[in-house]
Amino acid sequence: MHKVVIIGSGPAGLTAAIYTARANLSPLLIEGSQAGGQLTLTTEVENYPGFPKGILGPQLIQDMHAQAARFGTTFWQADVTQVDLGTRPFRLVVNDDQVVETRTLIIATGASANLLGLPAESRLMGHGVSTCATCDGYFFRGKPLVVVGGGDSALEEAIFLTKFATQVTILHRRDKLRASKILQDRERNNEKITIRWNTVVDDILGEDVVTGVRVRNVLTDERTVIPCAGVFIAIGHSPNTHLFKGQLAMDEKGYILTQRGTATSVPGVFAAGDVQDPYYRQAVTAAGSGCMAAIDAERFLEANIS
Ligand code: NAP
Repeated sequence: MHKVVIIGSGPAGLTAAIYTARANLSPLLIEGSQAGGQLTLTTEVENYPGFPKGILGPQLIQDMHAQAARFGTTFWQADVTQVDLGTRPFRLVVNDDQVVETRTLIIATGASANLLGLPAESRLMGHGVSTCATCDGYFFRGKPLVVVGGGDSALEEAIFLTKFATQVTILHRRDKLRASKILQDRERNNEKITIRWNTVVDDILGEDVVTGVRVRNVLTDERTVIPCAGVFIAIGHSPNTHLFKGQLAMDEKGYILTQRGTATSVPGVFAAGDVQDPYYRQAVTAAGSGCMAAIDAERFLEANIS
């Protein structure tokens, strides 16, 4: 039986591994089939403290992985396919056949940006298509950009991107924004932003890099091309929590609810990173909560010696 199992291998999971390994808890980290999380989808990370010249997202993950391995983390490149949090120890099924038992569990399965589902979107991801203005906006200095969505994220990203872009066009599928009034006011007062209402993306154009988007007005069916160097998709995120539905308290969007640090509704189960954070969603905040989850798990084990 394990003392600590961590599910997820982004900055939250790997930081939890570094801390629990250094606390001699011999953690098992189950990486998932898409190891490394969202950072592996970005190019340069310029806002992670300690790297004044920036660091590539995949490199940062590789370094965190090596650091966790150095202190004795065991890694499995596998998927957890079932969990039972109603028994003690907790029982996990890995790759549909292997049972793992653990006294504490740290869930760091992250969230995934919702995508439009266009083939060009995945082909050009990281080459003009992005889901994170904070991460990638800087690369589009002096270029026209498009943001898709009508919620707080879309407006916040559009406003942020006007620091770099010549012009930002927001494409929204209907004629009313979902975003809060304060952000709508800021958007209206920003001369660089225009909104195309009732507009959806039919295709993203470009062979190796984005050169534009072909859009369609849903009321008139008119199709036009908007030239741009980047397309930011801001149509919401979905936490990767389907495994835990019905076993842990979650909000209406499926984010795991935590209290007193990283404690979930089941004692001994902790959640860290984007899986419990619909708000900040940064590598550094995920790493910070991974550290908190490790300390919470360690204290839980100390208090529940069996
Ligand atoms: P959201 O509120 O769910 O908005 C998603 C937007 O994307 C909506 O306008 C939606 O259109 C549109 N959309 C969804 N699927 C689409 C599709 N397939 N094609 C085209 N458009 C699509 O998500 P969010 O903006 O990421 O915000 C998530 C939560 O975080 C919210 O609670 C928000 O308030 C909060 N947040 C707050 C701040 C802040 O306060 N500064 C910043 C960011 C996020 P419809 O409107 O037609 O549904």
